Amino acid sequence: MSEQDDKLYAMRHSLAHIMATAIQHLWPETKFGVGPVVEGGFYYDVDLGPNVKISDADFEKIEAEMQKAIKGDMPFERFEKPVDDAIKWAQEAGQPYKEELLNDLKRAGTTIAKDLNTAELGTITEGDAAVENVSFYKDGDFTDLCRGPHVESTGKVGAFKLMRIAGAYWRGNEKNAQMQRIYGVAFATDKELRQHLAMLEEAKKRDHRKLGQELDLFVFSDLVGSGLPIFTPRGTVLRDELATFSNQLRQRYDFQKVWTPHITKKDLYEKSGHWAKFGDELFLVKSQETSDELVMKPMNCPHHTRIYASQPRSYRDLPLRLLETTTDYRDEKTGELGGLNRVRSLTQDDSHVFCRKDQIETEINQLLACANELYSTVGMNLRVRLSYRDDTDAYLGDKELWVSAQEQLKNAVISNQLNYFEQDGEAAFYGPKIDFMATDAIGREHQVATVQLDFVQPERFELEYTAEDGSAQQPVMIHCALLGSIERFLSVYIEHTAGKFPIWTAPEQIRFITVNQEQTTVDFAAGIVKRAKDLGLRVSIDNSNESVGKKIRDAEVWKVPYTVVIGEKEISTNRLTPRIRKDMDVIAAHPELNFDEFLGTVANEAKARVTQSSL
Ligand SMILES: [Zn+2]
Ligand SMILES: [Zn+2]
Repeated sequence: MSEQDDKLYAMRHSLAHIMATAIQHLWPETKFGVGPVVEGGFYYDVDLGPNVKISDADFEKIEAEMQKAIKGDMPFERFEKPVDDAIKWAQEAGQPYKEELLNDLKRAGTTIAKDLNTAELGTITEGDAAVENVSFYKDGDFTDLCRGPHVESTGKVGAFKLMRIAGAYWRGNEKNAQMQRIYGVAFATDKELRQHLAMLEEAKKRDHRKLGQELDLFVFSDLVGSGLPIFTPRGTVLRDELATFSNQLRQRYDFQKVWTPHITKKDLYEKSGHWAKFGDELFLVKSQETSDELVMKPMNCPHHTRIYASQPRSYRDLPLRLLETTTDYRDEKTGELGGLNRVRSLTQDDSHVFCRKDQIETEINQLLACANELYSTVGMNLRVRLSYRDDTDAYLGDKELWVSAQEQLKNAVISNQLNYFEQDGEAAFYGPKIDFMATDAIGREHQVATVQLDFVQPERFELEYTAEDGSAQQPVMIHCALLGSIERFLSVYIEHTAGKFPIWTAPEQIRFITVNQEQTTVDFAAGIVKRAKDLGLRVSIDNSNESVGKKIRDAEVWKVPYTVVIGEKEISTNRLTPRIRKDMDVIAAHPELNFDEFLGTVANEAKARVTQSSL
């Protein structure tokens, strides 16, 4: 973290304490949980006792009380207590949650629930302690068990705003008490805070769940189940166009399409190791005839190894490049599902390369070129993280191979001129990887595609090729999905474009609007629509008995890129002036053109996947 990040972190964490200070003043019986820093701000978990709840309506009051503490500019004082004294403090102060954390600190030296044995959480130990002293911070009359860091005094915290309240179980366990989690956003300056709030406002307007409904892209049904989106005709156009592009990019490099079934004997995943690791996330399927235990496939790699292994391979046959856009199924916790972000049926634009160790760099190079072109076409900036191993023994495979592979990844990233950073300890246990982060139109960064090397699957499946010297060698596997999951990518893409899809992905590219319902008009429009369809364009015709103004507004609501009015003048001259959706309209003067010129230009724009109109 940079110095600035450190400072902002301390500001945000200090604000969590200040909010707790204010809440303690307003509700003296409050029992406090934890108050960490999160992206964009902070929160604190509080328990006001039975029947007392904070609501949004209290924010003003809490903020005013916080401002008092900030004006008071009280120092954050750090002091330490022996752990047993600290436990006594929590008991006397009536803070049972802090007492539980202190018991964990004493017993295990940490309070992080996931690092602790669940059965032991919060239990008491007599005698020897894992830590001697624990640190506290005090501002005014509020004291908190805390590691810090904090700003010097309450006056130095920048700008903030309380945002929302959520329910949160103590330590994330639904058997525990439910607390209220109060969120705030915070920035170093007023200006940054205002920008962030404006971004959140814009994000709300672009929410893909809202746009998905307004633009008729996908639906959910109780009869189908949560996390299982159903795509309408319009939404399916988006899926297909994105997947086709992603495939075409790789087909340039001789990737070949394959097809694998959606259910599979569990034996395949036992052999791959996925069963042991992700067994509880798999959907189970039973045959009514045989005793076969089947699963819905959670990933496609093991199937693709079966294609590799179906023939003897020589060094001359490699690389073997397989491509498959297919849906996988994972039993995600229903509480974590939301829109297309996280689903139980996820479609990957998946690919696997089986290659020799000396071919890694070239293969990665090609995949990065694909990713570069895809993300620049959709108008998102890419940044990549090179995720390497560290010196622990948490990684499988030969260490020398790791070092050489990491070097090849880095070379490929540099030769593709990608903005990158390196991080040790972020690799998968089976190989180093490249994670792609894409920045959307309102400045949010999303993790999208990955390219992963794998030294372990080829070993588990005993894959081999015959080397030049006749010896049997193991290939390396490269996993890559350019979009990642199409559903998740769509959740990003719909918000990135705000539903104003460019010509190539727009479900409806041109809408023709008739001025009247006379036979000559209707016939003329039908002729144009036929020519448009011959060019592969997605067009529609609005021949309803409404005013032209109403029909134009309707096309705007559907965010149709081009709208063309067909009346007497257009019919007699065979010429038109299209209405162009504002975000695509970049040329000052729009020349009139004939129908064939217009349709031909739009077809070319779709093919070139441009975002702006040339008309
Ligand atoms: Zn603290
Ligand atoms: Zn894979």
